[in-house]
Amino acid sequence: MHVLVLGAGQLARMMSLAGAPLNIELTAYDVDSGNIVHPLTQAILGNGLDNAIAQADVITAEFEHIPHHILDVCQRSGKLLPSSEAIKAGGDRRIEKALLDNAGVRNAKYAVITTREDFLAAIDRVGLPLVLKSALGGYDGKGQWRLKDSSNIDAIWLEMAQCIASNDNQAIVAEEFVPFGREVSLVGARGKDGTIAVYPLAENVHTDGVLSLSTAIADPELQAQAQQMFTAVAHNLDYVGVLALEFFDVDGQLLVNEIAPRVHNSGHWTQQGAETCQFENHLRAVCGLPLGSTQLVRETTMINILGEDTLSPALLAMNGCHIHWYGKEKRAGRKMGHINVCGDYSGELQRRLCAVAEELDQHAFPAIHHFAANFKS
Ligand code: ATP
Ligand code: MG
Repeated sequence: MHVLVLGAGQLARMMSLAGAPLNIELTAYDVDSGNIVHPLTQAILGNGLDNAIAQADVITAEFEHIPHHILDVCQRSGKLLPSSEAIKAGGDRRIEKALLDNAGVRNAKYAVITTREDFLAAIDRVGLPLVLKSALGGYDGKGQWRLKDSSNIDAIWLEMAQCIASNDNQAIVAEEFVPFGREVSLVGARGKDGTIAVYPLAENVHTDGVLSLSTAIADPELQAQAQQMFTAVAHNLDYVGVLALEFFDVDGQLLVNEIAPRVHNSGHWTQQGAETCQFENHLRAVCGLPLGSTQLVRETTMINILGEDTLSPALLAMNGCHIHWYGKEKRAGRKMGHINVCGDYSGELQRRLCAVAEELDQHAFPAIHHFAANFKS
């Protein structure tokens, strides 16, 4: 099997690593350069997109912000999974919100803004405080504003107006501020035959809008809610592949924040913590193979490595500590890799998290020290 991935970042890299034992070979389309590259070495393989489409058995994507004309060409080939409709929904908050409403899935109250009048009407209708997000192109908390009170309306409107003017199809989605207790996400796969297999929920810690930590949790009540919403969204889209839903947990009631039509950062823990990792299950789904078990095999926490390209070698000597580098050039705040820390039971995971935290710089890893010290085992 030959799979062409739209996007050539770390997700394509990890899919490639997971595909090798199944003889699934990957090439990646670098959307920025237009090159077809090897997902591990980034070596240019030298054929154009049309050629690559012709040679692929299946086409998939590692991110949702892909120009629509590229998605359309891939869709027409009949090889794209998930469908361009699903990928477009993940890349446009207006389509995403409409999809959640259609699927009958709880989400934050919202309004779409393209003019100053819309902005004022949204403040009236949705209420303050507001979270304002660009409809297109947002990731890792970028393209967002917070409006706490009316004194900031003019300043924020200036910035939002600039954002809207930057692209013909741009708009802002204004959402009610959700006073959540925590954030969780559900990663799961849907096969070509409609079979669904979801992983245990992950509890996520964000720092300045960027994911720092994800930990697999066991909470049957929340898991059932999340799975019901996952199923509704996946069936609505006739989805094939791995899909992630991000939720706000408000006193035990889940609200969907957003969906990601792809393998997801909050599912990286599955590489060590689940019977079959999310990358392999995505490939199994899009290649029409049976899905692998999503069962938890070890308590696991994933720690994102942001803007750092070296870590203490002592980490490699620790039991249950697994480092995954992405082979990227160092840049401030850039996702460079992640660490999966595992234990056979939660007390062991806590002990190991504390030991790992000792080896990590407080400034580069602001969330882990507090998390490890307060981890409930
Ligand atoms: P990513 O791609 O990393 O998931 P993103 O740029 O798509 O991020 P969101 O997930 O929508 O953005 O928002 C980033 C974070 O901001 C959320 O994880 C949450 O912590 C906070 N946030 C977003 N929307 C709201 C809201 N309506 N109320 C309260 N907090 C919010
Ligand atoms: Mg998010």
